[in-house]
Amino acid sequence: MTYPNVNLHIDGKWRASHSGRTIAVLNPATEETIGTVAHADKSDLDEALAAADKGFRVWRAIAPFERAKVMRKAAALMRERADAIAPLMTMEQGKTLAEATLETMASADIIEWFAEEGKRAYGRVIPARGPGIYQLAIKEPVGPVAAFTPWNFPINQVVRKLSAALASGCSIIVKAPEETPAAPAELIRAFVDAGVPAGVVNLVYGVPSEISEYLIPHPVIRKISFTGSTIVGKQLSALAGLHMKRATMELGGHAPVIVFNDADIDAAAKIMSGAKYRNAGQVCISPTRFIVQEGVYDKFIEKFVANTKSIKVGNGLDKDSRMGSLANPRRIAAIEEMVQDAVSKGAKVATGGSRIGNKGYFFEPTVVTDVPKNARAMSEEPFGPLALVSSFAKFDDAAEEANRLPFGLASYAFTSSTKTATDIGAAIEAGMVSINSFGLALPETPFGGVKDSGYGSEGGTEAMEAYFNTKFITQTGV
Ligand code: NAD
Repeated sequence: MTYPNVNLHIDGKWRASHSGRTIAVLNPATEETIGTVAHADKSDLDEALAAADKGFRVWRAIAPFERAKVMRKAAALMRERADAIAPLMTMEQGKTLAEATLETMASADIIEWFAEEGKRAYGRVIPARGPGIYQLAIKEPVGPVAAFTPWNFPINQVVRKLSAALASGCSIIVKAPEETPAAPAELIRAFVDAGVPAGVVNLVYGVPSEISEYLIPHPVIRKISFTGSTIVGKQLSALAGLHMKRATMELGGHAPVIVFNDADIDAAAKIMSGAKYRNAGQVCISPTRFIVQEGVYDKFIEKFVANTKSIKVGNGLDKDSRMGSLANPRRIAAIEEMVQDAVSKGAKVATGGSRIGNKGYFFEPTVVTDVPKNARAMSEEPFGPLALVSSFAKFDDAAEEANRLPFGLASYAFTSSTKTATDIGAAIEAGMVSINSFGLALPETPFGGVKDSGYGSEGGTEAMEAYFNTKFITQTGV
């Protein structure tokens, strides 16, 4: 499998940047350079902006029914091409081939769901105060979108924004991740090959801060969507606010997992170890703070650690690898520091804790127990294969710990009591609560956070709302 040199896509054409500049792409499992990605400069961005402006006028005039046909064709192409696309994602990002295939196939489901939802963008007819008056609330596409997406899910992070934008009639400029550029480029290719008119979908790479600082204030852009860290999200939402642009922010998390004494411990340990080490923990909804009630603390640790130890780590292209490498060396350094800091404050390493080898960014699936609240990892998002376990006595203690941090994205709880399930669902300050399962991130369900985890949704009908303006028209006979 050869990795490509990835180009920009602007106004219907695949091309290098005007300057000819490129950025090297590394395989995190081997640390070898495998290709390049084109580096857009201002003149390229100006062309993308002009294209998105033109593309918006063309696309918004096409009926949702017809837009959906194009989108469904793109979905079919993603399914057809999944076996060719998934290895590219594994090579650039490190995740296993099984995960990369699942992500590619799932993108087709997301495209199709939004394509259909676009047909149901109903407005309202509001009862009038007198005869012969129609009062209409109509949904109109907000306009050209600038979307900024990260490297952890190279396709998934783009397809949610792209599908909602296109289904609602918007055009888009995607600033995809420079570290993992080929898989998102294949997603864009599916839309281009499906017949999306020139200018509707544009793809750029470069220096993230330079691109966001140029696109967000630009008058052509009417809506921003960003997925990434809280610190960058705050900067971009401030910039969007300054220029009165709509924004969706999908930011960091630090998901609590509350395991009550009456939970099915085998199921909790199995479901959560699968979720924890998916994508080597580089997931915004990754279960992180395991808060386990005293009566089942030792039992849960025993089962969770046994599951963790059984995970085979290796190059994602090897069929028997169950966890691949981390995506970049920044994560290795961050996890190593967090483990050392926790241990220095009294925590115990139950398994893992170290980098594997010195070639490729591999790290052991790690469980640290008895972690005190003042350990750095208990407040900062690890974004890696690190599970932190601590105990609690009463319901209120668990709820307090779950809500202690400024994050509020995903959260999990395990209990066999309906009352406890209801109470914990109500008590947790988070955008998503999954009880007795890992049931998040479907196209048809809301996906988003509260507090420092951001605002807006990337799933369900809520995700479409972000791409619409409401126009009120009142009309009487003459
Ligand atoms: P980072 O904060 O440098 O970058 C995160 C993402 O934002 C990257 O894709 C980057 O290209 C982009 N970015 C950074 N500055 C930007 C700017 N000024 N304008 C536009 N885009 C910008 O961190 P990183 O080292 O790549 O990742 C580390 C942290 O980021 C993680 O610990 C995690 O908290 C967060 N993150 C979250 C998600 C998520 O799914 N919510 C995904 C990736 C990273």
